[in-house]
Amino acid sequence: MNTMTDLDWLAFLASRRNGGDPAALLGGAASPAVRRILSRHLEGAEISLDEGQVLFEADGDDLKAVVAAADHVRRERVGDAVSFVVTRNINFTNVCYMGCRFCGFAKRREEDGAELLALDEVTRRAEVAAQRGATEVCIQGGLHPDLTDHHYLDILAAIKARVPQMHVHAFSPFEIWYGSKKRHQAPADYLRELKAAGLGSIPGTAAEILDTEVRRQLTRNKLSAEAWVEIVRAAHGVGLRSTSTMMYGHVDGPRHWAAHIDLLRSIQKETGGFTEFVPLGFVHSEAPLYMEREIPGVRAGATLTEHIKVHAIARLMLAGWIDNIQVSWVKLGPQTGQALLAAGANDFGGTLMDESISRSAGASFGEEITAAEMVSIIRDAGREPVRRSTLYVPLERYIDHDPVALPPLKARAYDPILFLQKRPQSTCDRQERVHA
Ligand code: SF4
Repeated sequence: MNTMTDLDWLAFLASRRNGGDPAALLGGAASPAVRRILSRHLEGAEISLDEGQVLFEADGDDLKAVVAAADHVRRERVGDAVSFVVTRNINFTNVCYMGCRFCGFAKRREEDGAELLALDEVTRRAEVAAQRGATEVCIQGGLHPDLTDHHYLDILAAIKARVPQMHVHAFSPFEIWYGSKKRHQAPADYLRELKAAGLGSIPGTAAEILDTEVRRQLTRNKLSAEAWVEIVRAAHGVGLRSTSTMMYGHVDGPRHWAAHIDLLRSIQKETGGFTEFVPLGFVHSEAPLYMEREIPGVRAGATLTEHIKVHAIARLMLAGWIDNIQVSWVKLGPQTGQALLAAGANDFGGTLMDESISRSAGASFGEEITAAEMVSIIRDAGREPVRRSTLYVPLERYIDHDPVALPPLKARAYDPILFLQKRPQSTCDRQERVHA
């Protein structure tokens, strides 16, 4: 039985900051079934879908062994560096009628706060991002019914005209689907056109859970799992790489998580086009899915042990195929994100500057973590901070120097590195102090 609290798990992860001996944990109190799966994997066998499901049921000592193995595999595959990218999110419109039930971002045209940024404003934001050291802009928006069939192409052309060196990471598979329908083109032809106009890569968002039954509940199946896979394959096929994501902690469970990761792995085996896997914990507090409770059993996001499992098991199942596992600080918060670096993760995501999608769904971790703050968080985790490109080319290692300290783009009520001064105490720590 698991008697560990969240504080105990955070303390356990903190205790693994400088690694540990996975063999000791594997030979310890873990169950024979989990030990067998992990031992075979550490000897080179791939973790099957069924074995992934078994690992997702792990708790207590079994989960400790899973974490130790994930941390060991992370070190073997990608070393001790933790990367991040200096990027700005530009959400050019929040008008959308697709009605995804988990979305707190979309508005109707006439609602307060509905917006569609002019191209000049999009490019101005990209220019400011470049001045702040960004190598990437991440552009996504709602599926605004008034967009012309060339709007996405116009955005790319406008940015490339003003900031030619900027990597444009843009348009989710849902937006690609929408744009290709408007243009009456097959996704591959449309993606070729976008690439010629300056598209550098695409976010692998809108994946949610790639399971028909779950998607029906989340998105009314507007973009089916098959269509998501088809568009991502088409993107990889025309030479556009993408991220991969999974949104978990709502109406889903371990069976879906193992199958989702297994499907991403099979796509990667075929295309090699994914740069990373980003687990995205469901943010519930402003999401209609949770607030309106139309669907029985909707949860208020994942628990800490589920966050640990998803990151650690993804590391193990994807080993050798997708070797970059990112923590989403905007969903998890920087403290939990830092803790998960000890559970298989090796990337802290982007500086973002203007995060608004998660904030609209109720996330409260702010809109930006500056490069200097990223470096502080990563160093405090005992790892080596590296600024990278979108496609994971290392650009700057912060061994003997820091990034230029810039104030955040917008004033913040929340200090993302305050937690570095306040460490969690485990039950054991507290008992030791009492008995000392
Ligand atoms: S998630 Fe995207 S497509 Fe779905 S309603 Fe929100 S903005 Fe629209």
